[in-house]
Amino acid sequence: MNYCSHCGKPVTHRIPDGDNRHRYVCEHCNRVHYENPRIVAGTIPVWNNQILLCRRAIEPRRGYWTLPAGFMENAETTVEAAVRETLEEALAEVTVDGLYTVLDVPHIDQVHMFFRATLTDGQFGAGEESLDAQLFGYDDIPWDELAFPTIRETLEHFIRDQMEEHFPVRLGDIRRKLGQ
Ligand code: ZN
Repeated sequence: MNYCSHCGKPVTHRIPDGDNRHRYVCEHCNRVHYENPRIVAGTIPVWNNQILLCRRAIEPRRGYWTLPAGFMENAETTVEAAVRETLEEALAEVTVDGLYTVLDVPHIDQVHMFFRATLTDGQFGAGEESLDAQLFGYDDIPWDELAFPTIRETLEHFIRDQMEEHFPVRLGDIRRKLGQ
């Protein structure tokens, strides 16, 4: 950040009084510009014992498979964000069945949340940001072509948990898992 988004004057990067971290501070209007993690919300859309995945049409990881997910918008709930992303990326309407994974990704300042969901009518397709959308049986997940570690983590838990039809919320720290 170079300029204050409130008044347009240059900002400095320093620890404000009473704080313990560096922040972008505007010395003109005294505004402190806090930067905090962003939430990515998505679904695990299921239909007849298959999981709907999308092949990404955009970078990063173009051509790789992902669960439908994306950044939350202001003024929406996490469930609304997950449902919206599923409609946008997989053209699929879903009913949300519950929160499933909450995965911290601290090295890129994100939290990823995935909800279990069921397709409402079995309809789906490739949205603007997808090259393809396809249902995969639990034994046919394209493990070597998954887009992101949080997708793998979520699917690994889900495949294991669906065998016992018991889905506790799974918390995880992807940084630790990657050994970073
Ligand atoms: Zn300012």
